[in-house]
Amino acid sequence: MANKKPTIVILATGGTIAGSAASALETTGYRAGALGIDVLMEAVPQVREYANVAGEQICGIDSKDMTGALWLRLAERVNELLAKDDVDGIVITHGTDTMEETAYFLQLTVKSDKPVALTGAMRPATAVSADGPMNLLDAVRVSASGESFGKGVLVVMNGEIHGAREVRKADTLSVGAFQSPGGGPLGYVQDGVPAFLHLSLRCHTKESEFDISGITELPYVKVLYGHADDDGLFADAAVSAGAKGIVYAGMGNGSIPAAAEMALEKASSRGVVVVRSTRTGSGAVIASEPSYENAHFLRGDSLSPQKARILLQLALLKTTDLTEIQRMFGEY
Ligand code: ASP
Repeated sequence: MANKKPTIVILATGGTIAGSAASALETTGYRAGALGIDVLMEAVPQVREYANVAGEQICGIDSKDMTGALWLRLAERVNELLAKDDVDGIVITHGTDTMEETAYFLQLTVKSDKPVALTGAMRPATAVSADGPMNLLDAVRVSASGESFGKGVLVVMNGEIHGAREVRKADTLSVGAFQSPGGGPLGYVQDGVPAFLHLSLRCHTKESEFDISGITELPYVKVLYGHADDDGLFADAAVSAGAKGIVYAGMGNGSIPAAAEMALEKASSRGVVVVRSTRTGSGAVIASEPSYENAHFLRGDSLSPQKARILLQLALLKTTDLTEIQRMFGEY
């Protein structure tokens, strides 16, 4: 009988899922990204019941050290693999700290409807009750499922399937660290079976206008965190350092203290694109003070500041037209 199992390529990038500690009792004092893809796959031979799997090591880092250069390399490799007729889906093992950022970068730059699922772990591979093996198995199940086709880039953690646009790491230690504020997970892995309940309606993957082929560097964009007494010093510093864009993680509906607003207005008048975002963790940033509109600050919609940064970086590869960039914030 012909082998009908889908072919899934697992791309390993490091993280706690590949973390190794000195003892099985340690859940923090470990080295992230220490174990290779072969060791991760050996821990869950059951993945082969769902797919023909091949592993590839992209890098072995703690994901706090993720970079734009690595995102470009990863996206290029995912696109290359998914263009092949004999590859049906991708699983990416990744540290949890920046998993949401990598997922959103891929959501905007992967040119395929085939499933891409990121997963990781909150406990190192050497810990008692490590969560990595089950997460990896679930991610393969999701990537191998026809149900996942065309749903955008997915994050599969702790039995939940999250969409790349909304998902965020919302806890420092819990194995249930991931949440999607606003709508919740897109679905769940129920006794091994992926079940979707929601769809992400914003533009992604095949419909995305962003093309990173031939791009070697992303524009320099900084996130500044709003707080009481912000004197605007870091906004000035970002401009002096050559930032092309600034995302301001403001209070509430993207509110900016007066002194910081003055510094950002100066930045905007010099051609730096300023996007108002929010430090609240959920909700959209919409028009509020007329002075923000007069200073041509853009509205970051419901993207977290770290994801607004990614969209602004990709937007700046195409244009500096503020109306165009604001349109993108409404569409992605
Ligand atoms: N620091 C680790 C990382 O992001 C944390 C984890 O993977 O859970 O690589």
